[in-house]
Amino acid sequence: MSLTLAIVGRPNVGKSTLFNRLVGKRLALVDDQPGVTRDLREGEGRLGDLRFTVIDTAGLEDATDDSLQGRMRRLTERAVDMADVCLFMIDARTGVTPTDELFAEILRKRSKHVILAANKAEGAAADAGVLEAYGLGLGEPIRLSGEHGEGMTDLYAALMPLA
Ligand code: GDP
Ligand code: MG
Repeated sequence: MSLTLAIVGRPNVGKSTLFNRLVGKRLALVDDQPGVTRDLREGEGRLGDLRFTVIDTAGLEDATDDSLQGRMRRLTERAVDMADVCLFMIDARTGVTPTDELFAEILRKRSKHVILAANKAEGAAADAGVLEAYGLGLGEPIRLSGEHGEGMTDLYAALMPLA
């Protein structure tokens, strides 16, 4: 059985950018099937010699503030239930927000394994946010830059024992 990794976190932290880096063009063809939701994107992820299924929780970008919390919770819980491990992403440039705290709470209750990723961590501007991430109670954050491909060896090291 291969590993399934769900990338979760609030909108705009960089989930889809990392998804695209891991999956490239190897997207599962779920969009062609009638009645299949586009809220969760699935693809074949590769990192070094690791092969795994990646789930991107999309579908929150168009939610209004009012509907965001409920949708986020439902969508995240669905992704968590499908996954063996969750990569919970925060934006290290912004630091930890109340919405991030909400995600952390969902994941602490529901997920088997959580990898905490402080993304957009290229450069010193992210240092304060990375330190804040320790306060989420989900262990040591991995410093990532999905856009620049930094921190991928640390992500590999976190995934390798689970694969
Ligand atoms: P999502 O809503 O969580 O899927 O976030 P996206 O992947 O769509 O990215 C949101 C924005 O953050 C885009 O403008 C990206 O270019 C930017 N972004 C993503 N990853 C990084 C990163 O590692 N560093 C920086 N500085 N920006 C990033
Ligand atoms: Mg996205």
